[in-house]
Amino acid sequence: MKGHIEIIGATTNNLKNLSLRIPKHALTVLCGPSGAGKTSLAIDTLAAEGNRRLEALAQLSRGNTSRPRTVSISNLPMTLAMKRKLHLKNRHNVLSFLGLDALLYQLFMACGKRPCPLCGAEIRSWSLQEMTTAILESFSKRRAEVLAVITHPSATEVSPEEALNLILDAGYAKAYIGDRVFDLNREFEAALSLCQHHPQQISIEAVIDNFQIDQSNRSRLTEALRFAERLQKQGISIRATPAAPQYFSQSGVCQGCGRQSFGITARHFGLRAGTTADLIPPQQAELLSIKIGTQDLGTILTFSMEDFGKYLNTLQIGSSYLPAFQAARRIIALSAQLGLGHLGLMRPVSTLSLGETTRLRLSKQFQEPMQGLLYILDEPTLGLHPHDVSCLLETLRNLRDQGNSVLAVEHHPGIVSNADYLIELGPGAGRDGGSLVRCGPISEAPTISSELPPPWQISKCRHFENYVRLEGACLHNLKHIKANLPLEALSCVSGVSGSGKSSLVMGTLAPAADLARRKRGDVPAAEYQKLALKSFSLDQPVSGVVTNTLGEQTITQTALVATYCGVFDFIREAFAGTLMARMQGYTASHFALSHGKHDRTPGFCKKCRGLGVEIFDSQSGEQQSQTCPECHGLRFNKELLKVKYKQLSISEFLSLCVDEALSKLEHITQARACLQALTRLGLGYLNLGQPLCTLSSGELQRLRLAVALKPRRGSTLYLLDEPSAGLTPSETRHLAEVLHQIRSEGHTIIAIEHNLELIGRADYILDLGPGAGPYGGEIVFQGTPAQLCACQTSLTGQALKSHFSAVSICDIIGTQVTIQPN
Ligand SMILES: [Zn+2]
Ligand SMILES: [Zn+2]
Repeated sequence: MKGHIEIIGATTNNLKNLSLRIPKHALTVLCGPSGAGKTSLAIDTLAAEGNRRLEALAQLSRGNTSRPRTVSISNLPMTLAMKRKLHLKNRHNVLSFLGLDALLYQLFMACGKRPCPLCGAEIRSWSLQEMTTAILESFSKRRAEVLAVITHPSATEVSPEEALNLILDAGYAKAYIGDRVFDLNREFEAALSLCQHHPQQISIEAVIDNFQIDQSNRSRLTEALRFAERLQKQGISIRATPAAPQYFSQSGVCQGCGRQSFGITARHFGLRAGTTADLIPPQQAELLSIKIGTQDLGTILTFSMEDFGKYLNTLQIGSSYLPAFQAARRIIALSAQLGLGHLGLMRPVSTLSLGETTRLRLSKQFQEPMQGLLYILDEPTLGLHPHDVSCLLETLRNLRDQGNSVLAVEHHPGIVSNADYLIELGPGAGRDGGSLVRCGPISEAPTISSELPPPWQISKCRHFENYVRLEGACLHNLKHIKANLPLEALSCVSGVSGSGKSSLVMGTLAPAADLARRKRGDVPAAEYQKLALKSFSLDQPVSGVVTNTLGEQTITQTALVATYCGVFDFIREAFAGTLMARMQGYTASHFALSHGKHDRTPGFCKKCRGLGVEIFDSQSGEQQSQTCPECHGLRFNKELLKVKYKQLSISEFLSLCVDEALSKLEHITQARACLQALTRLGLGYLNLGQPLCTLSSGELQRLRLAVALKPRRGSTLYLLDEPSAGLTPSETRHLAEVLHQIRSEGHTIIAIEHNLELIGRADYILDLGPGAGPYGGEIVFQGTPAQLCACQTSLTGQALKSHFSAVSICDIIGTQVTIQPN
């Protein structure tokens, strides 16, 4: 290994004066319990410093001073950080997201053809120079007329009268109406009446010039074409008897019938929803009928990535377009390697599953081969089926072998055990974390053997009596499946990315169960058919349906841990109930961090509107923040801060961590419930006032899960999307215990899950597949984990079997076993 990145004295967030070296040109994994400081090191320290340096460079060139550095990092290459929390604009589809729409335009320029919708001949566009050369060639030594076409039978925007006046006003008199010539000065009425009595719209063309075409009067020709171009509404035609007229136009004209078309530009290939809206429907149809190679654009857009890749290989591309073409082939090959081949080109990115989105972003990230960079990845395996992890590993290794350094926050055994170097932070979370636990080459890490049998052999067999029953589910790629999932149980829905898990659980089960709950089971079949479902029933009614899929839009600057989990309402009430608050006439709304409808005098700082920081856009376009000069980050005005509850001001209360707040609010039942939901999932170290946008992806996922799993009465149906995301193996085992407890309280949990630690601990598994997209959507297996291991046809089953029979290096994470730093 050639050299190290050396970090000295990092103190970002909870990092405790951390100093360490990260080898260059290596694949390094960064692990440790959630909240140990992995994101603080990878994103908030390394990536932030990389950004700062780029910005400093830009500032230098403008002569400004740059932000001061906060940590000493030597030997830091240019960094490229891929954070998982990226705001995807919903308008993108797979094609435009990967930038392949620009390629389609290049392909069209390279080998595109536009057939005329009227006669099928080719539509061509010409520059003035091309026109001149072509006319000189085909009319050489012949007398010909240069005409500006004002109306054409296919275009009705200009009336005959307007057209004839246009010609006269421009200073021309001779015009063709169809095939007859008129002198408009003398025969205006006759010309007009021919137009008006003609059964169909007839062409009107102004004669611009009439002369012998040859090289000696090339400039006269160019001049005539320029005048014609200025007057024309439907292109230019050249007439020389006895031959048929020839048509020319800068924007595009049919070479057969002279129908004028619109000019296609790169913009029209920006095929995101809405961008072609400035084309009228016939033009859109014309755009879709253009041919690239042997297929028309409309057909090409129905292709999957895989089919598109195959099609590209059949095209003959000239050398000038070759680089763009080869870049596109690389992107598509990489996407296929990451298991995205089944995605349709026009599939909106907003409808992709979490795993597909993650990998799409990976392929976008890696499409330009670069050298000497530090890639920082936040949990790239998130949402990946175990089967696809080896492809991802291959991609990461390729990056390394091309001369880059890769740092991945990751716990997946398949990545960790195949990395070059391991860094573990800990030992605990929040204030108990931020230290280096171990750091060294993976090859020198000891393995500890686990003697435990697989979890399903330990837990006792359960009997299920009641089920959620659905039949004929056919949303997206689901193939009219019939599934029964046990109530009062923990079920996992597994399968490769794109096999239909989200379509089944979030797209079908969630709305159907909610419908059944609202109508108390009395739902006409037609209602279910609207959900692409034949029938649905619950053997026992459920009192609530809860999912953990919340849009990214809830992650605003103002959302804090305390407001998100709901405890802040009770804290505000507690403050409003103090003697001091009552004497001053403060109500709970005075302590709010946002405007209620009827609040006239909010208590938050007016300058920063309760954020505690001021946010501005830096030169590089990234959002920067600085402590509010008015309230010094305390968020509230001075008067309000005088109110104390349990000797703390409202601002001090927000700086407590969840565990500390729990001891202060133990006596308020509802507040306790909010906070216990968080501590139950190991989030007791989070500060109440921490903005959600500063949480790591794993923390955010668990916070959502904690809020979703808040204790509820009755029997709730929980539908969870990857509840184990971002958790270490031991944290996943803890999550399984929590879910088991919730299930024993009479609730039902159905989770979309790839994590084998959790799948192995489920009561029941529904495995979808066998492939992705059109090759998926069928039930490969349903039954218990033990039965799944015996199922030869299930990829999940095979992965599960080997997971619990092999000893993983991940098992040392969180233990005291040490490896030697080199
Ligand atoms: Zn035509
Ligand atoms: Zn302020």
